[in-house]
Amino acid sequence: MKIGVIGGGQLGRMLALAGTPLGMNFAFLDPAPDACAAALGEHLRADYGDQAHLRQLAEEVDLVTFEFESVPAETVAFLSQFVPVYPSAEALRIARDRWFEKSMFKDLGIPTPAFADIQSQADLDAAVASIGLPAVLKTRTLGYDGKGQKVLRTPQDVVDTFAELGSVPCLLEGFVPFTGEVSLIAVRARDGETRFYPLVHNTHDSGILRLSIASTDHPLQALAEDYASRVLKQLDYVGVLAFEFFEVDGGLKANEIAPRVHNSGHWTTEGAECSQFENHLRAVAGLPLGSTAKVGESAMLNFIGEVPAVEKVIAIDDCHLHHYGKAFKAGRKVGHATVRSHDRATLDRQVKRVEALIKN
Ligand code: AMP
Repeated sequence: MKIGVIGGGQLGRMLALAGTPLGMNFAFLDPAPDACAAALGEHLRADYGDQAHLRQLAEEVDLVTFEFESVPAETVAFLSQFVPVYPSAEALRIARDRWFEKSMFKDLGIPTPAFADIQSQADLDAAVASIGLPAVLKTRTLGYDGKGQKVLRTPQDVVDTFAELGSVPCLLEGFVPFTGEVSLIAVRARDGETRFYPLVHNTHDSGILRLSIASTDHPLQALAEDYASRVLKQLDYVGVLAFEFFEVDGGLKANEIAPRVHNSGHWTTEGAECSQFENHLRAVAGLPLGSTAKVGESAMLNFIGEVPAVEKVIAIDDCHLHHYGKAFKAGRKVGHATVRSHDRATLDRQVKRVEALIKN
Protein backbone atom coordinates (compact mmCIF):
# COMPACT_ATOMS: atom_id res chain seq x y z
CA MET A 1 0.00 0.00 0.00
CA LYS A 2 1.27 3.47 -0.86
CA ILE A 3 0.36 6.38 1.39
CA GLY A 4 0.47 9.99 0.24
CA VAL A 5 1.31 12.49 2.97
CA ILE A 6 0.72 16.23 2.66
CA GLY A 7 3.76 17.73 4.35
CA GLY A 8 7.23 16.24 4.65
CA GLY A 9 8.39 17.27 8.12
CA GLN A 10 9.29 15.16 11.12
CA LEU A 11 5.73 13.89 11.62
CA GLY A 12 5.71 12.54 8.06
CA ARG A 13 9.13 11.04 8.65
CA MET A 14 7.94 9.25 11.80
CA LEU A 15 4.80 8.02 10.03
CA ALA A 16 7.04 6.42 7.41
CA LEU A 17 9.32 4.93 10.07
CA ALA A 18 6.23 3.25 11.56
CA GLY A 19 4.58 2.24 8.29
CA THR A 20 7.55 0.84 6.38
CA PRO A 21 7.65 -2.37 8.50
CA LEU A 22 3.94 -2.87 7.67
CA GLY A 23 4.87 -2.99 3.98
CA MET A 24 3.74 0.55 3.25
CA ASN A 25 5.47 2.98 0.92
CA PHE A 26 5.26 6.74 1.14
CA ALA A 27 5.13 9.82 -1.08
CA PHE A 28 5.39 13.28 0.52
CA LEU A 29 4.13 16.49 -1.03
CA ASP A 30 6.16 19.40 0.34
CA PRO A 31 7.59 22.50 -1.36
CA ALA A 32 10.66 22.57 0.91
CA PRO A 33 13.81 21.27 -0.80
CA ASP A 34 15.10 19.92 2.52
CA ALA A 35 11.87 18.24 3.72
CA CYS A 36 13.20 15.76 6.29
CA ALA A 37 10.69 13.01 5.47
CA ALA A 38 12.17 12.77 1.95
CA ALA A 39 14.78 10.31 3.28
CA LEU A 40 11.95 7.80 3.86
CA GLY A 41 9.97 8.01 0.62
CA GLU A 42 9.33 9.82 -2.63
CA HIS A 43 9.40 13.60 -2.41
CA LEU A 44 7.03 15.51 -4.71
CA ARG A 45 8.43 18.99 -4.42
CA ALA A 46 5.57 21.35 -5.18
CA ASP A 47 3.25 23.89 -3.62
CA TYR A 48 0.15 22.58 -1.87
CA GLY A 49 -2.03 24.24 -4.50
CA ASP A 50 -0.14 22.78 -7.50
CA GLN A 51 -2.89 20.78 -9.20
CA ALA A 52 -0.58 18.90 -11.58
CA HIS A 53 1.42 17.50 -8.67
CA LEU A 54 -1.72 16.87 -6.60
CA ARG A 55 -3.06 14.85 -9.55
CA GLN A 56 0.21 12.95 -9.79
CA LEU A 57 0.11 12.19 -6.06
CA ALA A 58 -3.50 10.99 -6.26
CA GLU A 59 -2.63 8.65 -9.15
CA GLU A 60 0.36 7.15 -7.35
CA VAL A 61 -1.09 6.45 -3.92
CA ASP A 62 -3.94 4.44 -2.37
CA LEU A 63 -4.91 7.15 0.09
CA VAL A 64 -3.80 10.55 1.33
CA THR A 65 -3.27 11.81 4.86
CA PHE A 66 -1.72 14.91 6.48
CA GLU A 67 1.02 15.78 8.86
CA PHE A 68 -0.16 19.37 9.49
CA GLU A 69 -3.58 20.99 9.60
CA SER A 70 -2.97 24.26 7.77
CA VAL A 71 -3.41 22.57 4.40
CA PRO A 72 -5.52 24.78 2.10
CA ALA A 73 -9.14 23.59 1.96
CA GLU A 74 -8.95 23.60 -1.88
CA THR A 75 -6.07 21.10 -1.77
CA VAL A 76 -8.16 18.66 0.24
CA ALA A 77 -11.25 19.20 -1.93
CA PHE A 78 -9.21 18.66 -5.10
CA LEU A 79 -7.53 15.47 -3.86
CA SER A 80 -10.81 14.06 -2.49
CA GLN A 81 -12.15 13.86 -6.06
CA PHE A 82 -9.59 11.22 -6.97
CA VAL A 83 -8.45 9.39 -3.85
CA PRO A 84 -9.66 8.68 -0.27
CA VAL A 85 -8.46 11.39 2.14
CA TYR A 86 -8.28 10.79 5.90
CA PRO A 87 -9.07 12.60 8.11
CA SER A 88 -11.84 14.25 6.14
CA ALA A 89 -11.94 17.72 4.60
CA GLU A 90 -14.56 18.66 7.20
CA ALA A 91 -12.33 17.58 10.13
CA LEU A 92 -9.51 19.74 8.75
CA ARG A 93 -11.81 22.70 8.12
CA ILE A 94 -12.85 22.71 11.78
CA ALA A 95 -9.47 21.91 13.35
CA ARG A 96 -7.48 24.50 11.41
CA ASP A 97 -9.65 27.41 12.58
CA ARG A 98 -9.84 28.24 16.28
CA TRP A 99 -13.30 29.82 15.94
CA PHE A 100 -14.87 26.75 14.30
CA GLU A 101 -13.05 24.51 16.75
CA LYS A 102 -14.19 26.30 19.93
CA SER A 103 -17.73 26.74 18.54
CA MET A 104 -17.87 22.96 18.00
CA PHE A 105 -16.70 22.33 21.58
CA LYS A 106 -19.42 24.64 22.85
CA ASP A 107 -22.12 22.96 20.72
CA LEU A 108 -21.02 19.56 22.08
CA GLY A 109 -21.17 20.74 25.71
CA ILE A 110 -17.39 20.60 26.19
CA PRO A 111 -16.14 23.35 28.56
CA THR A 112 -13.81 25.97 27.00
CA PRO A 113 -12.36 29.31 28.07
CA ALA A 114 -14.74 32.22 27.29
CA PHE A 115 -14.09 33.16 23.65
CA ALA A 116 -15.10 35.70 20.99
CA ASP A 117 -14.55 36.11 17.25
CA ILE A 118 -12.46 39.21 16.47
CA GLN A 119 -12.57 40.84 13.03
CA SER A 120 -11.45 44.36 14.00
CA GLN A 121 -9.96 46.44 16.81
CA ALA A 122 -13.52 47.49 17.75
CA ASP A 123 -14.49 43.80 18.15
CA LEU A 124 -11.42 43.34 20.33
CA ASP A 125 -12.25 46.31 22.56
CA ALA A 126 -15.83 45.04 23.00
CA ALA A 127 -14.68 41.46 23.71
CA VAL A 128 -12.12 42.62 26.29
CA ALA A 129 -14.91 44.57 27.99
CA SER A 130 -17.04 41.43 28.31
CA ILE A 131 -14.41 38.68 28.80
CA GLY A 132 -12.04 40.80 30.93
CA LEU A 133 -8.27 40.72 31.38
CA PRO A 134 -6.00 38.82 31.36
CA ALA A 135 -6.94 37.27 28.03
CA VAL A 136 -5.17 35.70 25.06
CA LEU A 137 -5.57 36.95 21.50
CA LYS A 138 -4.84 34.27 18.88
CA THR A 139 -5.01 34.28 15.10
CA ARG A 140 -7.85 31.98 14.02
CA THR A 141 -5.62 30.06 11.63
CA LEU A 142 -1.94 29.27 11.07
CA GLY A 143 -0.78 29.65 14.70
CA TYR A 144 1.57 27.03 16.14
CA ASP A 145 4.14 26.69 18.94
CA GLY A 146 2.87 29.91 20.54
CA LYS A 147 3.20 31.89 17.28
CA GLY A 148 0.29 34.14 16.24
CA GLN A 149 -0.83 34.86 19.79
CA LYS A 150 -0.40 37.46 22.48
CA VAL A 151 -1.31 37.53 26.16
CA LEU A 152 -3.15 40.74 27.09
CA ARG A 153 -2.68 41.71 30.74
CA THR A 154 -3.31 45.46 30.94
CA PRO A 155 -5.58 47.86 28.99
CA GLN A 156 -2.38 49.19 27.39
CA ASP A 157 -1.71 45.71 25.90
CA VAL A 158 -5.03 45.93 24.01
CA VAL A 159 -4.20 49.15 22.13
CA ASP A 160 -3.51 48.46 18.41
CA THR A 161 -3.08 44.75 19.11
CA PHE A 162 -5.37 43.63 16.29
CA ALA A 163 -2.98 45.29 13.79
CA GLU A 164 0.02 43.84 15.64
CA LEU A 165 -1.23 40.31 14.91
CA GLY A 166 -1.61 41.23 11.22
CA SER A 167 -5.24 42.49 11.11
CA VAL A 168 -6.38 38.94 10.37
CA PRO A 169 -9.41 37.17 11.91
CA CYS A 170 -8.61 36.34 15.53
CA LEU A 171 -10.10 34.73 18.61
CA LEU A 172 -10.00 36.32 22.05
CA GLU A 173 -9.92 33.81 24.89
CA GLY A 174 -10.18 34.33 28.63
CA PHE A 175 -6.88 33.49 30.33
CA VAL A 176 -7.22 30.14 32.11
CA PRO A 177 -5.42 29.92 35.48
CA PHE A 178 -4.67 26.26 34.84
CA THR A 179 -2.94 23.93 37.28
CA GLY A 180 -1.65 21.76 34.42
CA GLU A 181 -1.89 21.04 30.72
CA VAL A 182 -2.81 17.56 29.52
CA SER A 183 -3.42 16.01 26.15
CA LEU A 184 -5.30 12.94 25.04
CA ILE A 185 -4.22 11.08 21.92
CA ALA A 186 -7.14 9.19 20.39
CA VAL A 187 -7.38 6.98 17.35
CA ARG A 188 -10.58 6.12 15.47
CA ALA A 189 -10.84 3.45 12.79
CA ARG A 190 -12.91 3.63 9.62
CA ASP A 191 -15.56 1.43 11.31
CA GLY A 192 -15.78 3.79 14.31
CA GLU A 193 -13.74 1.70 16.77
CA THR A 194 -11.97 4.17 19.08
CA ARG A 195 -8.98 3.77 21.39
CA PHE A 196 -7.26 6.22 23.73
CA TYR A 197 -3.73 6.50 25.07
CA PRO A 198 -3.21 7.47 28.72
CA LEU A 199 -3.45 11.21 29.38
CA VAL A 200 -0.15 13.02 28.97
CA HIS A 201 1.01 15.85 31.20
CA ASN A 202 2.71 18.57 29.13
CA THR A 203 5.10 21.37 30.07
CA HIS A 204 5.51 24.30 27.68
CA ASP A 205 7.99 27.13 27.61
CA SER A 206 7.45 30.19 25.38
CA GLY A 207 4.50 28.35 23.80
CA ILE A 208 6.66 25.37 22.72
CA LEU A 209 6.22 21.89 24.19
CA ARG A 210 9.31 20.84 26.19
CA LEU A 211 8.33 17.79 28.23
CA SER A 212 5.52 15.20 28.08
CA ILE A 213 4.99 12.59 30.78
CA ALA A 214 2.48 9.78 30.23
CA SER A 215 0.29 9.42 33.30
CA THR A 216 -0.85 6.34 35.17
CA ASP A 217 -4.54 6.18 36.20
CA HIS A 218 -5.10 9.91 35.77
CA PRO A 219 -8.34 10.87 37.59
CA LEU A 220 -9.52 12.90 34.55
CA GLN A 221 -8.90 10.13 31.97
CA ALA A 222 -12.59 9.14 31.70
CA LEU A 223 -13.74 12.76 31.39
CA ALA A 224 -11.15 13.49 28.69
CA GLU A 225 -12.23 10.36 26.79
CA ASP A 226 -15.87 11.43 27.03
CA TYR A 227 -15.11 14.88 25.57
CA ALA A 228 -12.87 13.47 22.83
CA SER A 229 -15.48 10.84 21.90
CA ARG A 230 -18.06 13.56 21.26
CA VAL A 231 -15.69 15.28 18.80
CA LEU A 232 -14.62 12.06 17.09
CA LYS A 233 -18.25 11.05 16.49
CA GLN A 234 -19.29 14.53 15.40
CA LEU A 235 -16.55 14.61 12.75
CA ASP A 236 -16.90 10.90 11.85
CA TYR A 237 -13.17 11.04 12.33
CA VAL A 238 -10.64 8.55 10.93
CA GLY A 239 -7.05 8.54 12.19
CA VAL A 240 -5.22 9.96 15.19
CA LEU A 241 -6.61 13.10 16.83
CA ALA A 242 -4.85 14.95 19.64
CA PHE A 243 -6.94 16.83 22.17
CA GLU A 244 -5.27 19.48 24.36
CA PHE A 245 -6.87 20.47 27.66
CA PHE A 246 -6.26 22.82 30.54
CA GLU A 247 -6.64 21.27 33.98
CA VAL A 248 -8.57 23.75 36.10
CA ASP A 249 -10.78 23.50 39.22
CA GLY A 250 -10.46 19.71 39.19
CA GLY A 251 -11.95 19.52 35.67
CA LEU A 252 -10.92 20.13 32.07
CA LYS A 253 -11.31 23.02 29.64
CA ALA A 254 -10.70 22.30 25.98
CA ASN A 255 -7.88 24.26 24.38
CA GLU A 256 -7.54 22.78 20.91
CA ILE A 257 -7.50 19.68 18.74
CA ALA A 258 -4.92 18.63 16.18
CA PRO A 259 -6.19 16.36 13.39
CA ARG A 260 -2.94 14.40 13.16
CA VAL A 261 -0.23 12.66 15.10
CA HIS A 262 1.01 15.02 17.80
CA ASN A 263 4.23 15.98 19.57
CA SER A 264 2.74 15.02 22.94
CA GLY A 265 2.26 11.48 21.59
CA HIS A 266 5.86 10.90 20.55
CA TRP A 267 6.54 8.88 23.72
CA THR A 268 4.28 6.13 22.29
CA THR A 269 6.99 4.99 19.88
CA GLU A 270 8.80 3.24 22.73
CA GLY A 271 6.26 3.75 25.53
CA ALA A 272 3.11 2.09 24.15
CA GLU A 273 2.37 -1.30 22.64
CA CYS A 274 1.45 0.35 19.32
CA SER A 275 2.66 3.90 18.60
CA GLN A 276 0.45 6.82 17.57
CA PHE A 277 2.19 6.74 14.17
CA GLU A 278 1.41 3.08 13.51
CA ASN A 279 -2.13 3.46 14.83
CA HIS A 280 -2.78 6.46 12.59
CA LEU A 281 -1.67 4.41 9.58
CA ARG A 282 -3.68 1.38 10.68
CA ALA A 283 -6.77 3.59 11.02
CA VAL A 284 -6.51 5.35 7.66
CA ALA A 285 -5.59 2.11 5.87
CA GLY A 286 -8.62 0.25 7.28
CA LEU A 287 -6.43 -2.16 9.30
CA PRO A 288 -7.19 -3.36 12.86
CA LEU A 289 -6.12 -0.85 15.52
CA GLY A 290 -3.21 -1.68 17.83
CA SER A 291 -3.11 -1.62 21.63
CA THR A 292 -2.73 1.81 23.21
CA ALA A 293 -1.53 0.34 26.53
CA LYS A 294 1.57 1.81 28.13
CA VAL A 295 4.78 -0.18 28.46
CA GLY A 296 6.15 1.01 31.84
CA GLU A 297 6.59 4.70 32.64
CA SER A 298 7.51 7.08 29.80
CA ALA A 299 8.48 10.66 29.14
CA MET A 300 9.45 12.65 26.04
CA LEU A 301 11.75 15.66 25.89
CA ASN A 302 11.95 17.91 22.85
CA PHE A 303 15.22 19.12 21.43
CA ILE A 304 14.68 22.70 20.27
CA GLY A 305 17.32 24.43 18.14
CA GLU A 306 19.88 21.64 18.38
CA VAL A 307 20.28 17.98 19.27
CA PRO A 308 22.72 17.33 22.14
CA ALA A 309 25.74 15.05 21.53
CA VAL A 310 24.31 11.72 20.36
CA GLU A 311 26.70 9.63 22.49
CA LYS A 312 25.61 11.46 25.65
CA VAL A 313 21.88 11.06 24.96
CA ILE A 314 22.02 7.35 24.24
CA ALA A 315 24.34 6.69 27.21
CA ILE A 316 21.32 7.31 29.48
CA ASP A 317 19.50 4.08 30.44
CA ASP A 318 16.50 3.25 28.24
CA CYS A 319 16.78 6.62 26.49
CA HIS A 320 15.88 6.67 22.80
CA LEU A 321 17.02 9.39 20.45
CA HIS A 322 14.94 10.62 17.51
CA HIS A 323 16.98 12.94 15.33
CA TYR A 324 14.86 14.55 12.61
CA GLY A 325 17.73 15.21 10.21
CA LYS A 326 16.79 18.92 10.02
CA ALA A 327 19.17 21.87 9.97
CA PHE A 328 19.63 23.27 13.49
CA LYS A 329 17.95 26.64 13.99
CA ALA A 330 16.88 28.52 17.13
CA GLY A 331 13.30 27.75 18.12
CA ARG A 332 12.96 24.82 15.70
CA LYS A 333 12.04 21.30 16.80
CA VAL A 334 14.97 19.20 15.55
CA GLY A 335 14.64 16.02 17.60
CA HIS A 336 13.39 14.43 20.79
CA ALA A 337 14.26 11.71 23.25
CA THR A 338 11.96 9.20 24.89
CA VAL A 339 12.93 7.79 28.27
CA ARG A 340 11.37 4.73 29.85
CA SER A 341 11.50 3.13 33.25
CA HIS A 342 9.70 0.62 35.46
CA ASP A 343 8.98 3.23 38.12
CA ARG A 344 8.28 6.93 38.24
CA ALA A 345 11.14 7.90 40.56
CA THR A 346 13.72 6.41 38.18
CA LEU A 347 11.96 8.03 35.23
CA ASP A 348 12.22 11.45 36.89
CA ARG A 349 15.97 10.92 37.37
CA GLN A 350 16.38 9.96 33.69
CA VAL A 351 14.41 13.05 32.63
CA LYS A 352 16.77 15.22 34.70
CA ARG A 353 19.78 13.60 33.01
CA VAL A 354 18.39 14.45 29.56
CA GLU A 355 17.49 17.98 30.70
CA ALA A 356 21.06 18.49 31.84
CA LEU A 357 22.17 17.94 28.21
CA ILE A 358 19.78 20.57 26.87
CA LYS A 359 21.42 23.98 26.71
CA ASN A 360 18.44 26.25 25.99
P1 AMP B 1 -2.10 27.07 21.82
O1 AMP B 1 -1.35 27.42 20.58
O2 AMP B 1 -3.51 27.53 21.82
O3 AMP B 1 -2.00 25.61 22.18
O4 AMP B 1 -1.34 27.86 23.02
C1 AMP B 1 0.01 27.60 23.36
C2 AMP B 1 0.18 27.65 24.86
O5 AMP B 1 -0.18 28.96 25.37
C3 AMP B 1 -0.72 26.69 25.64
O6 AMP B 1 -0.15 25.40 25.70
C4 AMP B 1 -0.78 27.37 27.00
O7 AMP B 1 0.39 27.12 27.75
C5 AMP B 1 -0.84 28.85 26.63
N1 AMP B 1 -2.26 29.27 26.48
C6 AMP B 1 -2.99 29.23 25.35
N2 AMP B 1 -4.26 29.66 25.54
C7 AMP B 1 -4.36 29.98 26.85
C8 AMP B 1 -5.41 30.47 27.68
N3 AMP B 1 -6.63 30.75 27.19
N4 AMP B 1 -5.14 30.66 29.01
C9 AMP B 1 -3.91 30.40 29.52
N5 AMP B 1 -2.86 29.95 28.78
C10 AMP B 1 -3.07 29.74 27.47
